[in-house]
Amino acid sequence: MIKEDDPSQKRNIGIMAHIDAGKTTTTERILYYTGKIHRIGEVHDGTATMDWMVQEQERGITITSAATSCFWKDYHINIIDTPGHVDFTVEVERSLRVLDGAIAVFDGVHGVEPQSETVWRQADRYKVPRIAFINKLDRIGGDFESSVDSIKSRLNANPVAVQLPIGKEDGFSGIIDLISMKALIWPEDGSSGEKFSVEDIPEDLVDDATLARDMMIEVAAECSDSLMEKFIEGSEISADEIRSALRVGTIDLKIVPVLCGSAFKNKGIQPLLDAVVDYLPSPIDLPDVDGLSADDSEVKIARKRLSSEPFSALVFKIMSDPFVGQLSYIRIYSGRLKAGEVVFNSRTGKRERVQKILQMEANQRTELEGSYAGEIVALVGMKMVATGDTLCDQKHPIRYESVVFPEPVISVAIEPKSTGDASKLEKALERLQSEDPSFKVLENTETAQLLISGMGELHLDIIVDRLKREFKVQANVGSPQVAYRESITSKASASETFERELGGKSQFAHIEVDVEPSGEQVDLLLVNKVPEERLPTRFLKEVEIGFHEALRSGPLAGFEMLGVKVTIRNARIDEENSDEIAFRIAAGMAVRKAVRQASPNLLEPIMDLEILVPEAYLSNVITDLNSRRAKVSNISLKNDLQVVAAQAPLAEMFGYSTNIRSISQGRATFSMQFATYEPVSKSVLEKILGN
Ligand code: GDP
Repeated sequence: MIKEDDPSQKRNIGIMAHIDAGKTTTTERILYYTGKIHRIGEVHDGTATMDWMVQEQERGITITSAATSCFWKDYHINIIDTPGHVDFTVEVERSLRVLDGAIAVFDGVHGVEPQSETVWRQADRYKVPRIAFINKLDRIGGDFESSVDSIKSRLNANPVAVQLPIGKEDGFSGIIDLISMKALIWPEDGSSGEKFSVEDIPEDLVDDATLARDMMIEVAAECSDSLMEKFIEGSEISADEIRSALRVGTIDLKIVPVLCGSAFKNKGIQPLLDAVVDYLPSPIDLPDVDGLSADDSEVKIARKRLSSEPFSALVFKIMSDPFVGQLSYIRIYSGRLKAGEVVFNSRTGKRERVQKILQMEANQRTELEGSYAGEIVALVGMKMVATGDTLCDQKHPIRYESVVFPEPVISVAIEPKSTGDASKLEKALERLQSEDPSFKVLENTETAQLLISGMGELHLDIIVDRLKREFKVQANVGSPQVAYRESITSKASASETFERELGGKSQFAHIEVDVEPSGEQVDLLLVNKVPEERLPTRFLKEVEIGFHEALRSGPLAGFEMLGVKVTIRNARIDEENSDEIAFRIAAGMAVRKAVRQASPNLLEPIMDLEILVPEAYLSNVITDLNSRRAKVSNISLKNDLQVVAAQAPLAEMFGYSTNIRSISQGRATFSMQFATYEPVSKSVLEKILGN
């Protein structure tokens, strides 16, 4: 029996993987064996249950982190689906924020791939305990041992095999469970793998299994003093003792238990579910959650993860749903929530009523009367929430750290086809922005052109697609453009006096500033050298807003500015006539004037690239990279593939996925992510400025 208010019976997990490693197929099987779906959908025919957005089905990738609940034995498992494509690392980050543990799926033919490395490092940062599933062992070249080795060498992790495969490639028939020392064999009778037989280990594998078990026990002993004693004494060690030692090691992030199978051939999924329960933490296995006081962001508060504590939850995803409108996915960290209750949003300071609480399952949703600490549920009817907000009990306010979102690097111009579409477009963009903070809408004040920007070409493609299909907006879309930035390269000074008469009242402000390069990748670094009596705090606040506004549009081509240090050297007020607006305007004018004189330059986003390519196509790839202003920093060998590390300007990388496919006959794969901004060369600058 599952008691919903008992967090020890819950597991909140993510499934993370390189694209194509088999995450969707594995998730699909999990939902099937836990009884949530009644037919196994295949990714390649576009019916997989988790891939519910049309775009995902067409593209065969999983983008949205739909959370889905399922039940295994006495446990309630919430699966937060994490995307594998690099354009969506923000989605990965935000799901990692609310997960307690993860299954890392690896392609048993390729082992650790570039994108699995990125996701792994993100999971390290969020301290997410993991188990690994080496998938695709039925495929030619599937190799358990070298995959485990690659986890050790490429990810610097401490993998411990708790299973071994039986047979290879076509002959892969099941697994050896090194804890029970039994063979689990799935029948080749065309069934969906619900039933498997438990047998003695085949004779020719007994030695390998014994050796692997000894290694596993040695690692387990390192995680538990009592097991270590028994191990040294050489006394009998029970299966439960091994499991609980491995559990401690996994939760302490010391080890990664490794399992294996073939999701596609329905082998190894049930033991994987057992491992989720055995090794991954429940919410109460984790330390108290750190938050900040809602009134003072300097004051830290820790909250126990118990239902008996005051209510607190993080909104980690907002989605529009065709049936119920806006859904806000929350992770409840403490306390309990009842439908109809009013919650407090510690960012906005506003209260809002929760109309309905839904438990989201793969193909149905269950309305709940209430929910508890440790749960992941979706709320209906929340109007004033944004991703990253904390909802809590007003008497015990708390604010959890929001997700960090990188700056969008690519943009496209978008224009409504008719005036009727204009207001629809505006509403739709607003909605999409609240769902996805890594997506931005900007209006070019000079041309009145709307620009939408995001993390990569695919990201924007999907957004444009959703605008058309989901929001039924007809719009013309330009070709993708790089989101350039502007900066300055020298020091300059300016002063401004603002004086005017408005409705019989005069306004006055005077300010003197120095600007110089700050070397930081943020718009503004502010230093104030003027004492309070000459520039009171209430004006200083407005001055800062004025600076930010001015830096939103640079002097060269109106791109946002980066890396500007502004020092307020002097200011003057007029006791009677100074006001906030006057200071805001004067500040903006002064900074605009100063940056024009500070030798402004243009910066472009530079991307980190990692390309995996068979030797035969290496020279094609390198020649092509050279033509894209890329700098190759390293070429190394991994298994039988060349790994090329390079940096290239985003401007040269449009359409790269299609291109690399054609120059490597589809054999090369790559991952790309934002690295830094760098000044553009003179010739590029001239091209962009149209000279
Ligand atoms: P994802 O991108 O990580 O979600 O990967 P998918 O689940 O979409 O799988 C990518 C492709 O690999 C699909 O064509 C699957 O049918 C196939 N696939 C997944 N798991 C296995 C497996 O265990 N064995 C084999 N042979 N193919 C698999």
